[in-house]
Amino acid sequence: LVVCLGQVVTDHTFRVDEVELAPSKVTARGYSMSVGGMAANAAIAVARLGGRAVFWGRVGRDEAGEELRQALEDEGVDTTGLVMAEGARTPLSAVIVDKRGERSIVTYRGERLPADPSALPLDRLAEAGSLLCDPRWPEAAEAAFAAARARGLPGVLDAEKSEERVLRALVPLADHAIFAKTGLTIFAPGVPPAEGLARALEAGPLRMAAVTLGERGVLWRAPGMKGISTRPAFPVEATNTTGAGDVFHGAYALAVAEGQEVERALRFASAAGALRARDGRTPDRAELEALLAG
Ligand code: ADP
Repeated sequence: LVVCLGQVVTDHTFRVDEVELAPSKVTARGYSMSVGGMAANAAIAVARLGGRAVFWGRVGRDEAGEELRQALEDEGVDTTGLVMAEGARTPLSAVIVDKRGERSIVTYRGERLPADPSALPLDRLAEAGSLLCDPRWPEAAEAAFAAARARGLPGVLDAEKSEERVLRALVPLADHAIFAKTGLTIFAPGVPPAEGLARALEAGPLRMAAVTLGERGVLWRAPGMKGISTRPAFPVEATNTTGAGDVFHGAYALAVAEGQEVERALRFASAAGALRARDGRTPDRAELEALLAG
């Protein structure tokens, strides 16, 4: 079982030829609505890849929140830890994808979402093989990482772009810190990635720190390792890179729950991220194993 804690939003995806930088009016070639949010996408990835997934997060007690709950349930994700708060507004994103598969995102983080994590069923960590948190509900991530550490349960942090103080608080609580490029720049400004990852390892008892770089793969290091290692990306033709990072994190947390070592888990997760970027949807286990078998 993998517990995924953090963001869930409604993604409104528009497909266009080019993303215009200047103020302009652009006609979409396609539109779709789906579940988004880092931890929610990761939970769906865990379920698709054959794991048991639990999602912990918060939405408003509104139509969008109910649709998200239902969509997660339809994917086989347990939503008993989804807090639906009275008077709060559910987050949403506008995702603009161009013809090369690159995207721009405008996010609305919702309103009046409760900070207090006391409604979360932390006891369920007893059944889990790993805990994955993104930084969008920091109070809850701190409580869950602390509870996981007390039980010896491995914690994986999706260290996405966030406030510096949030990343500084969460990194030392995790066992595996996987940064997005912007997350690492915020955590360790003005130094090259190898040095940023070294600083993450100094911040707490981490087993590894990594940064994902899209088609350039993953850089990572572990305590006692000389220098930095690279896990190259699987070469695919990307059509939509939205959610590749989230699927990567879900797959990585599942691999950790299955007892895979860091290097193998990174390869497993890279295959999942590559398939998501190639097909624009989260792969199942058979598709992933086929890519791994090469
Ligand atoms: P984020 O969405 O958080 O920025 P990345 O874009 O770095 O995350 O993607 C996470 C991982 O998914 C990458 O390290 C890589 O392994 C895989 N991935 C993402 N985009 C591609 C791509 N275009 N081709 C192959 N693999 C990709």
